[in-house]
Amino acid sequence: MSPELVLAIINIVLAGIFGSIVGSFTNVCIYRIPEHRTIVKGHSMCMTCGHELGALDLVPIFSWLFLGGKCRYCKTPVSSRYIKIESLTALFYMIMAATHLTMFLDPLEPAKNIFPFIELCALFVMINIVIVEMMIMKDTGSSMYVMTSALGIDFLVQILARILHAIRDTASESLASLIGKWLLQTLIGAAIGLLAVAISVILTMGFKSLGVYFHSKESKAIRTSDLFAIALCAAIGAIPSLVTATVYLIARVLIKNGKNVKYLGTFLASGAAIGYFAYSLYFCF
Ligand SMILES: [Zn+2]
Repeated sequence: MSPELVLAIINIVLAGIFGSIVGSFTNVCIYRIPEHRTIVKGHSMCMTCGHELGALDLVPIFSWLFLGGKCRYCKTPVSSRYIKIESLTALFYMIMAATHLTMFLDPLEPAKNIFPFIELCALFVMINIVIVEMMIMKDTGSSMYVMTSALGIDFLVQILARILHAIRDTASESLASLIGKWLLQTLIGAAIGLLAVAISVILTMGFKSLGVYFHSKESKAIRTSDLFAIALCAAIGAIPSLVTATVYLIARVLIKNGKNVKYLGTFLASGAAIGYFAYSLYFCF
């Protein structure tokens, strides 16, 4: 194996481990934020027997597998949601790392890699915010404005990273032309997202029930998810958006208004990960 390939595999595996840890933290957020509990302090405990969980109970993915999805102390089954979110986040992070390999392959030139790195991190954060927000939204019916503003800040970080990135790469181009290009990407992305949302609304509800979509309390979670889909598409630009919007559209139509609406955020996140992957492949050929 070539040293590049070894390095690539190590980085993808590390991204997966990091992703599973973030996924574990994502689960903490989903359970504690609606209860207005702190997410930075305090031990995790079993929901049923209240036993404090030790280090061995908290290894992402593996603890759940080795304990057969049960609490070590009281043997009560633990929701499969934990392992689903941990493994999906790990998978998203691995895909994202795979799309940014050139960045890892050039570790001696941090200056060259800092902006793509910020962009990648912002995307990681955004994906997890979408998952947390959707889960909480569907479980409690409340909209988490704090999370939404976090998403907004994240969006701004991405914009900044992209502009700085572009400025550094093409010193000859004027700032106005760079911002113009970025705006165009954002608008095309948003338009693609909006189109996917419009088609899915028509396919799932029809023209007659548009009022239900815009006003009913039940479709609040779906409306929020749709809004995220458009924002995410705007943030990632035209080409990744095409894939993201398609994945989201399919998930949206398949799920309809069922009990699995809470997973829409996860589908959106997977769409973005696949979209980015497709985008990097597009640049390979
Ligand atoms: Zn227990």
